[in-house]
Amino acid sequence: MNLEIKDLNVSVKDKKILNNFNLKINTGEIHAIMGPNGTGKSTLSKVILGDKNYTIEKGDILVDNESILSLETYERARKGIFLCYQNPISIDGITNSEFIRTALNEQNEKKVGLYEFIKSMEKNIDSLKMQPDMMHRNLNQGFSGGERKKNEVLQIKMLKPKFIIFDELDSGLDVDSLKIVCDNIKEYLQEYPNTSVLLITHYTRILDYLKPQYVHMMKNGEIVESGDYTLAKNIEKYGFDKTFFLGDDKNDE
Ligand code: ADP
Ligand code: MG
Repeated sequence: MNLEIKDLNVSVKDKKILNNFNLKINTGEIHAIMGPNGTGKSTLSKVILGDKNYTIEKGDILVDNESILSLETYERARKGIFLCYQNPISIDGITNSEFIRTALNEQNEKKVGLYEFIKSMEKNIDSLKMQPDMMHRNLNQGFSGGERKKNEVLQIKMLKPKFIIFDELDSGLDVDSLKIVCDNIKEYLQEYPNTSVLLITHYTRILDYLKPQYVHMMKNGEIVESGDYTLAKNIEKYGFDKTFFLGDDKNDE
């Protein structure tokens, strides 16, 4: 899936968050956005999914060259856009398996067979090293931060989205869980190499695993610098402000 964000200007409650934001992610590319707290990274991810709390003042979001701004969130999801939440919510009264099966049935013309569904859930729960009973527990209820993140990746493996946004996947995950989650994502991307990915993160650890081809630095609602993995390493080494001011003169080692 090709996703293009053009001159996007977004505000919430009269506060301007995104300023002339531009980004193009082609089929099969992995991009990372790094930026300090409060720069609008989560806002960007929510706007891509059509969160109505945010007002688009100007600009467009195109999927395969067609604007998606008039589409409802479920229509965007049906196209294959998936947001892996920074803080996934819990929902009482619906089990994890009901939730995923309902979503699958909504996504596809053909209903999924129960046997096939359970087999696939069991396999993925196992490869994510989740507890087997998590299938039958209420969605994210009583799940730790790390378990919630694994549950998001479980949804990815079941729903097979074409464009995935990971909003701070690393938050809440311990080192071992992060490795398990990243191994699962890598395996998914190997199986479905046309998947496009946007990784939003503060840390390079997840980038070491998932190896984005492009890294962007975001400040005050816009991308101020783009590069490759070296940019992420510089941000880690020098911090956001210094990396920005050093510009291109820092590639001395
Ligand atoms: P990031 O993910 O980069 O840390 P966010 O996108 O969450 O940043 O937030 C960007 C700015 O917009 C912050 O100052 C935040 O407080 C503000 N903001 C985001 N969503 C809302 C909202 N629904 N209501 C009010 N302010 C918001
Ligand atoms: Mg955020």
